[in-house]
Amino acid sequence: MPHIPKKSKPSLKEKIINKLLKRIKRVKGGCWVWVGKKVGGVFEDGKRVTEGYPTFTISLKRYSARRESYIHLGGHSDPGDKQLRTTCGKPECINPAHIFLDGRKIGGRPRETSKKHKRK
Ligand SMILES: [Zn+2]
Repeated sequence: MPHIPKKSKPSLKEKIINKLLKRIKRVKGGCWVWVGKKVGGVFEDGKRVTEGYPTFTISLKRYSARRESYIHLGGHSDPGDKQLRTTCGKPECINPAHIFLDGRKIGGRPRETSKKHKRK
């Protein structure tokens, strides 16, 4: 009798893609707005002034929705510690077609502004 494998558990990649696709709202302009959890938003006087970054968790590990979308939906290689930005400028957009590699390291500052401060 041939060995029939049990239905295998979804791989991490499949789980990630499922999470991403369930939380995307496609809007005008081609943006894929993240409707899931966001972290890092800035609040002032109880009002949100900056949207946080799209995130989700699998088995208690937190993932950046933008980064995972770039890799798994966009088919790009892992950007490592490089920063990903969106061409549309929306922090909540995770359309891989709108995501590009900034080339700067996460947390890094542009060289021009780190040493010299312009005086006015
Ligand atoms: Zn967009």
